[in-house]
Amino acid sequence: MRFMNEENTLIWQNFIGLLKNRISTVSINSWFKYCKIYKIDDAVENNKSIKIVTIVTNSQFIKDALIKRYLETIEELMESILGKNCNIEFILEEDINKIDEKEKIIESSSPPVEKRPTYTQTIESNLIERYTFDNFIVGDSNRLAHTAALSVAEQPGKLYNPFFIHGKSGLGKTHLMHAIGNYIKKTSSKKVLYVTSDKFISDFTSLNMNKDGSYVQAFKEKYRGIDVLMIDDIQFLQKAEKTQQEFFHTFNSLYDMNKQIIISSDRSPDDLKLLEERLRTRFSWGLTVNIYPPDIELKKRIAKNKMSGYAVASLVDEDVIEYIASNSENDVRHIEGAVTRLYAYAAIMGPHKIDLEFANEALRDYLKSSVYMDSNIAKIQKAVADYYKITIEDLKSKKRTANINYPRQVAIYLCRTYTDESFPKIGLEFGNRDHSTIMHACDKIEKDLKVNNQLKEIIKEIKNNIG
Ligand code: ADP
Ligand code: MG
Repeated sequence: MRFMNEENTLIWQNFIGLLKNRISTVSINSWFKYCKIYKIDDAVENNKSIKIVTIVTNSQFIKDALIKRYLETIEELMESILGKNCNIEFILEEDINKIDEKEKIIESSSPPVEKRPTYTQTIESNLIERYTFDNFIVGDSNRLAHTAALSVAEQPGKLYNPFFIHGKSGLGKTHLMHAIGNYIKKTSSKKVLYVTSDKFISDFTSLNMNKDGSYVQAFKEKYRGIDVLMIDDIQFLQKAEKTQQEFFHTFNSLYDMNKQIIISSDRSPDDLKLLEERLRTRFSWGLTVNIYPPDIELKKRIAKNKMSGYAVASLVDEDVIEYIASNSENDVRHIEGAVTRLYAYAAIMGPHKIDLEFANEALRDYLKSSVYMDSNIAKIQKAVADYYKITIEDLKSKKRTANINYPRQVAIYLCRTYTDESFPKIGLEFGNRDHSTIMHACDKIEKDLKVNNQLKEIIKEIKNNIG
């Protein structure tokens, strides 16, 4: 069912958090407790892209009350969360059940002859409007892909055909494809079609179901009558040999007419081993670009960008951005997930500020840093504590006596020099100390090392002991 969608749940929690600043808990419990987001759709109104948020309620009475009393508030808060103008709609739970039933019936019975889809109708582009060039953040790892994509969008069918984007999951391939499509649709009257390989396969399979020929024609009309064809995640075509053959013909037909073909994959054309050789050769006729994982600089800029635009953005410490960037996986989807979770947690807790400690609490199950015991920092702390015969708690404590302070500085220096961890992360693992303390410790030990041979020996020995 649609309202089990995790993202919508988080958005709803976020919304309730903001609502707490507006109306009493009693009112929230009376009117909002049994509501959820059913779905969020993209739409266009007065040439502007907007969101349609459909909220599900369990009674007509509540639905009426929400419309009468809270519609504006809901609209305003949803806009601050989603960063777009919103229209709010309501649906009753019992009506959803009816819709689900209907869908089930449609799925389980094969379509009667006269109801076969006719693709001669205007096809839908399937484009997601929020993926644009404007909100694609560019860094060294994706610059080439971005520039090439923009060129393709400006001159479809002319420059790079086919245009093949590959890279690991979550690095922005789908985003770039939609950006190209949206750009072309905005600047021309060309017909654009975005499909995933799975959709392409299922269209083709339904074609095979009817042997009377009419469907074959419909399939061809759909796929050969367009100006820009985008197929996402082509690696999944490897499992469908028959569809590959059809794709080969579609490809040739479009290519011969100078129509733009855009393909994405999680691996390079050479590594699509199960794809027919003749297809792979064709992929290399145009331009192939690779999107690499983002470096820390880009991750920071993306995290910052994803955080802005929300009402709580002003509460976020700069350190938190670095913390998220340095502890998330090297893919953008993971960074986005961290931001959504952080904000949902903030909506529930209502903090005065979102600092490192708060972020660590919110994201402990999500980011790498939660693996305290296995981390390199933890190993260094243990080796240093063992050497100086103090405890790890001492290293993390507020104690400032020389017998603890100096080992702590040594440990911080080792963490900074021998791990990739950021200053904020190291600070966090040493009792939430701030940036400047960490920097000071590193400077101090570096200076000492220049004049103190005994310290050099000590550091060598500790390094040998790091498990
Ligand atoms: P892929 O198709 O490569 O698996 P997606 O295009 O679905 O990746 O990207 C995953 C998420 O990360 C999307 O929400 C997308 O908007 C976002 N994203 C990826 N790269 C960037 C970027 N450079 N700037 C902003 N958002 C990005
Ligand atoms: Mg994708």
